[in-house]
Amino acid sequence: MYCNWGGAGGWHDPGSFFLAALLVVMICLAAALLFRRKGFGGPAPACPACGGVVDPAFLRCPHCAAALKSHCPACSRIVESTWKYCPACRAEVNKV
Ligand SMILES: [Zn+2]
Ligand SMILES: [Zn+2]
Repeated sequence: MYCNWGGAGGWHDPGSFFLAALLVVMICLAAALLFRRKGFGGPAPACPACGGVVDPAFLRCPHCAAALKSHCPACSRIVESTWKYCPACRAEVNKV
């Protein structure tokens, strides 16, 4: 009926459980660090066309009028100008 993987160890061993927990905590920490670096403290976002400082909420560069974000033609959600596909409806966006 129930196979117990042939003996001691597995997830019931306190040692490997601790190791797994440690691994999960480390992954969470790394993710949090990455997120922090992306979200705050990093360099201000720059316009890809003129390099001017722009706000992440801007749809268009106030310096050179380059489109920073656009609207998906299918579902009209705001998409980044670097994206190829709309994450909401998978339509192709920013076609050249
Ligand atoms: Zn610009
Ligand atoms: Zn869409």
